[in-house]
Amino acid sequence: MEKIEIQKGDITELNVDAIVNAANTSLLGGGGVDGAIHRAAGPELVEFNRKLGGCQTGEAKISPGFKIPAKFIIHTVGPVWSGGKNNEEILLANCYRNSLKLAVENGIKTIAFPAISTGVYRFPLERATEIAVGEVKKFFKKNESIEKVIFVCFDEKTFQAYKKLLNA
Ligand code: ADP
Repeated sequence: MEKIEIQKGDITELNVDAIVNAANTSLLGGGGVDGAIHRAAGPELVEFNRKLGGCQTGEAKISPGFKIPAKFIIHTVGPVWSGGKNNEEILLANCYRNSLKLAVENGIKTIAFPAISTGVYRFPLERATEIAVGEVKKFFKKNESIEKVIFVCFDEKTFQAYKKLLNA
């Protein structure tokens, strides 16, 4: 499926309509990809996000991209992995679904996702990538407005996990 791409690198540098941030519930910045996005977007991002009133796990909210090349940042909060019995899989799927829904509502055609929850939040990588790819494929069956979804991989093991699933 050529609408899905995998790329190695830093999500903050991509020329897409929207990048997705693996944020925390405060939406005010954190470590990992969240920290990188806040640094690259500049201090206006935290000022804007203060008005969003936080975000629950599995939900998504949108902001401008400010200093990054992407026009929008979609902030979603992945679940913290705690063994798999706390709805983690459903909540992670919700992150992808709700981010894509917001993208459609905002006329976004190209969107890049990091590997949500697989860093500090410790979600098992293989399962997380299966959920990510599964949700995006499901979405493409019903929606034609988005032209490209890019899975951005910051490290080789994440890249290999997506590659295995997409036979790329
Ligand atoms: P979480 O708290 O949801 O687990 P992390 O930011 O800790 O989020 O990790 C999620 C994924 O994002 C990890 O694969 C991590 O390597 C990756 N990552 C970190 N920085 C960047 C970046 N600048 N661009 C793309 N991916 C990144």
